[in-house]
This record gives sequence, C-alpha cells and structure tokens, in this order.
Amino acid sequence: SEMATMMNISVTEIISACMSLGMMVTMNQRLDAETLTIVAEEFGYEVEFVDAEVEEAIELSEDKEEDLEPRAPIVTVMGHVDHGKTSLLDYIRKANVIGGESGGITQHIGAYSVTLANKQKITFLDTPGHEAFTAMRARGAQVTDIVIIVIAADDSIMPQTKEAISHAQAAGVPIVFAINKIDKPTANPDKVKEELAQMNILVEDWGGKVQSHDISAKVGTGVDDLLEKVMLEAELLELKANPNKNALGTVVEALLDKGKGYVSTILVEAGTLKIGDYILAGKHSGKVKAMHDERGNPLKKAGPSTPVSILGLDGAPQAGDKFRVFDDEREAKQIAAKRDQLQREQSVRTQRHITLDEIGRRIALGDFKELNIILKGDVDGSVEALTDSLQKLSTEEIQVNIIHKGVGAITESDVLLASASDAIIIGFNVRPSGNARALADKEEIDIRNYSIIYKVIDEIKDAMEGMLSPEM
Ligand code: GDP
Repeated sequence: SEMATMMNISVTEIISACMSLGMMVTMNQRLDAETLTIVAEEFGYEVEFVDAEVEEAIELSEDKEEDLEPRAPIVTVMGHVDHGKTSLLDYIRKANVIGGESGGITQHIGAYSVTLANKQKITFLDTPGHEAFTAMRARGAQVTDIVIIVIAADDSIMPQTKEAISHAQAAGVPIVFAINKIDKPTANPDKVKEELAQMNILVEDWGGKVQSHDISAKVGTGVDDLLEKVMLEAELLELKANPNKNALGTVVEALLDKGKGYVSTILVEAGTLKIGDYILAGKHSGKVKAMHDERGNPLKKAGPSTPVSILGLDGAPQAGDKFRVFDDEREAKQIAAKRDQLQREQSVRTQRHITLDEIGRRIALGDFKELNIILKGDVDGSVEALTDSLQKLSTEEIQVNIIHKGVGAITESDVLLASASDAIIIGFNVRPSGNARALADKEEIDIRNYSIIYKVIDEIKDAMEGMLSPEM
C-alpha cells in the first residue's frame, strides 16, 4: 500500500503485478528489494534504495593502511565422508600445543587456533564439511581464507570431493589438497593427483600451481608440511586486520547451556574484543561477561582471527551472524530490537532467488550478467554433453557458468550452493531428495527436471533470449 501511494496507482494493481510474479501478497505486506524493483519497473518507475537505518548505524569505517597488522589465516577442512577430515582436525588439535602449555584442546567450541613451531598461528573452523561452510556463505558470511580438501589416497575423487572443490571455487577461496591415508599399503597418491589433473587441477608434483601434500592424519606423517603449505598460501593472501578498534566478526555457533546461559563461539575478524564490551550479534545483544579460549582458559581480550567462547548475550545468535561491539549499549539494544521486529515481519517469506522465468525480467534491470547453473545427471556422459552445450550458450552479454556438476540425486548441499551463489539447479533424469526438496522450497531455489537434452538447451536459450530482448 505504501508503494501504491508513492507511485500514485491503486493497491490492486500492485497486488496483481505481484501475482504475475507468482507472489500472493496482502496490502500490508513488506516486499523484498528485488520484488520492489521489478514491480516498480512494470509501472515505469525506478527504485532507489536508501540504506535501512539499522544497517546504516553500523556502517564500518575504513581502516588506514598503517593501522593494519598481519593476522592468522582461517581454515576450513572439507572432503568426502570417511576420507579423514575429523582425523586431521583431531590430529592438529592434539599435536599442537601452544608454547609450553600442556594438554591439548579439550573443548569443542566450533573453532580453534594452533601455533606452529615457528610461532605462526592458524585458526581452524572445527565443523568439517562444506555444509557449514556454504550455509554460512548463504547467510553472507565468508570467514574462510583457505580450504584444505582431504582426499583418501586409497580411494578416488568422490562426489563430495567434487562438491567441496566446487564450493571452494565458487567462494573464490584457495585450496590446499591433503592426500590422506598414505600409511595404508593400498594408498596410491599418484592416482588421486592424476584424477585431479583430469579435472584440470594441476598440483605441484604435476607441474601445476595448486598446493598438495601427502599425509597420514592417523600417524601424523606430513601434517606439519601440510600446514606449512597452508601458511605459504596465506602469505600470498597478505591477510591483515586492524586490531586497535572495536571488535567485529562472525558467530560460529551458539547454544543454551543449562548452568551458564547462552554460550556463543565467535570469531573476531578485526579489532579487539574485551571483557565488558557491549556487543550486538544478529538480533541479540549483551555485555561480554566472560571469555574463554578453546582450552577453557579465561581471556581478558581477543584480537583478529581469534575464536572465543563468550557469555553474556541475551539469546543464541545463528551461525554466520555478524557481531560487532558498540560504545553505546542503548544503540545496540535498539538495533537488536529493530532487527527482531523486521525478522518477524518478514518471516512469512524468505529471500527470493532467481528462477528461470524471472531471468528475462532481471536482465531488463541491467544487473544480470551471469547465469549460474548446478547440473546433476544420472550418467556422466549426459552431464558432460550438457555442460558442453550449456557453456556454448554463453554470449558477450551473459556468461553461463556451470558452478557445479555431478552424477547423482540433487542433494541439500546442491541447494545450499545454489542459495549461496544465486544459481538454478538442473536435474537430468535425477530428482531431488526429500530433504533437498524441502530446503529448496524454503530457500526458494528453482529446480528444473528434464529427461531430454535438447529441451534443457531450448529452455535455457529461450530464457537467455528473453534476457536480451526484454519486453518493454
Ligand atoms: P571424515 O568422515 O572425513 O571426518 O573421516 P574420519 O576422520 O572420521 O576418518 C574415517 C576413517 O578413516 C576413520 O576410521 C579413521 O580412523 C580413518 N583414517 C583417517 N585418516 C587416516 C589415515 O591417515 N590413515 C588410516 N589408516 N586411516 C585413517
């Protein structure tokens, strides 16, 4: 109704425009940015967004170059099930003992930090797998600097290995491969590297630039060298942060402890967090009452790339929520309350993602340059054939990207990747699993099922032509 007033047209016209987009709305409903833009366009208006008061209040100030100091890399371990992700994280956790301190890391707080022999530090996110990685990314939080992908040398590149590679590549995060289980007599690291080469990923031993190291997560062989390679990769990234300001970062996990109250693990990305600081995390706020590291040691402050478990928030924020320290307690509380209200108002709908039918409209807005596709099929032959044909549809204006392809059913992980990368999913003779279907409905991801190759090509081509000659 507000929009109708602004454009001086009737509310019914707006409602029917929304219906033509497949949205049943009432006159008091809030529309998301994309819908607002599309609907306004229909009536010849252009939308200009003024940042919501809430987000404006937490606008970040730019750091000056001289204030930046090097920070430790933040690493996620991914790979196929049973290839050794947990074993690697466990080995590193146990083997690395901070200078003189006895006893490894006893607590699981969702992230831990280790100090190497040369005093360099690495922070690990302790939830292996790409689901957590991509779920965070879907929420707009990209905390990982480097990904270690574990591949068992007595096995081959498996579907989840491919997924992990796609997820890391889609996020633009460098990969270091850990070819694991070399203690096994059946291990054949060369076969794995050959398979990687077939995927156009050339590791160093094969004359390429991608780092990889043969390890045994069980015995510990090569793990030190692997971590050294991670540090080499980190040096190239020149990771820096300003430690001398109010802390900000991302929530890794949060839970309600019966005795302690809400316990949240947060990763400080910049600034320094101190006891007594007032923080806002997602739609929760509170004063930091206590702070502990992964060894259960109490801390008074925590700088960039440090994971800490804190007490004091008035609720459990979600993994991937951003947090930030406020000088003014009242301001943090107000923003938390406002976010809570906005979320309740919007809970009827989630963010709308791209659908094939919508592509023509989007290009008319001039913001559509890439069509991201996730392709799943029943046999390798058809997946390859489709990849080829779809990529050939790219034009100067619109690039068709197959961001992930594979043989097998459409999984939840595919849906998460689609959500994080604003992609559509094409299933060729395969269907989504029940869970994937439910998640796709929730996230509003467009899943298209086909059984004839030329139909896929025709529909994508039609949609792309729609993009190029929008009905004005
Ligand atoms: P995840 O599913 O990727 O987290 O894999 P796990 O770390 O749980 O490992 C799966 C299985 O492989 C477990 O039984 C491990 O003990 C075993 N495993 C992991 N790494 C190695 C290794 O380097 N050598 C051997 N022999 N076994 C390993």
